[in-house]
Amino acid sequence: MVWGVNGVVVLCLLAAAAFYMTNLRASAATEAAATVRPNATQKLAPTSYFLPTLTPNPRYTPPVFETPTAFVLENGPRPTIIGYSLAGRPIEVYAFGAGEREYLIVAGIHGGYEWNTIALANELITHINENPGAIATDATLYIIRNMNPDGEARAIGVDGRVNNNGVDLNRNFPSDNWVADWDRDGCWIYRPTTGGLYAGSEPETRSVMGFIKAHKIEALISYHSAALGVFPGGVPWQEPSKRLAKALANATKYAYPPIDTGCEYTGTLADWAVENGVGAAVDMELRNHRDTDFDENLKALKVFLSFIP
Ligand SMILES: [Zn+2]
Repeated sequence: MVWGVNGVVVLCLLAAAAFYMTNLRASAATEAAATVRPNATQKLAPTSYFLPTLTPNPRYTPPVFETPTAFVLENGPRPTIIGYSLAGRPIEVYAFGAGEREYLIVAGIHGGYEWNTIALANELITHINENPGAIATDATLYIIRNMNPDGEARAIGVDGRVNNNGVDLNRNFPSDNWVADWDRDGCWIYRPTTGGLYAGSEPETRSVMGFIKAHKIEALISYHSAALGVFPGGVPWQEPSKRLAKALANATKYAYPPIDTGCEYTGTLADWAVENGVGAAVDMELRNHRDTDFDENLKALKVFLSFIP
């Protein structure tokens, strides 16, 4: 009996010692990880920019933004993954309804710079999931809530606009007027960017192209911010897209015709879409870089889903 108790005590002591040693090793490992982490994190930051002008300025301190939280739809359909970003983040599409007429909304093409378009897509997805009557029985609505997840993950602000190759995804589509570089007069100039090494060079672009080619999309809204209005697709603007732009502008009170800053738009999703079988397409800009304009865009959704090109 005594030996038995002794045995148990010895075993306990051995277990305690083993546990203590393991903890020591674990905390040593954690400290080691903590000391190497800053360098490791810097190496993980996007370094695939091919423009030398995008080399970070050593004296520039990047602003700290909240990390975007993953969107999870409670009690709703799971999204389908249609492709991956350069950093391997999934590009997801939500589908609502099962009708023959197919409609597509794309948000977040300009990533964290236009993060409120992603927030709007999240609100629309949540709303439609709770109000399935929003989709007529003969319609199907697809929502790609974030086409540029790497941009969103990088920054909420100007640094979050391009993808991890420094490409403006809304200039990377192989429309008839695609160019790698363009006259910047009247255009967005806050950071260096390109239209890609070639038309359709980016995985994010090809994911959306593949999705559109696999469906017969009646109409498409590509959401942007901010403030310029609603741009019809096509070069020159194509008639059904002009009609869609007018109807959406009427519902939202966004500007139509859109404000002309003198910028020439090339390789856009909306232009490529109407050149490749989509009935009508627009670039639609929210009012600012902060609000989702949810009420206006809920009205726009109704107009959009009843639009026949
Ligand atoms: Zn944009």
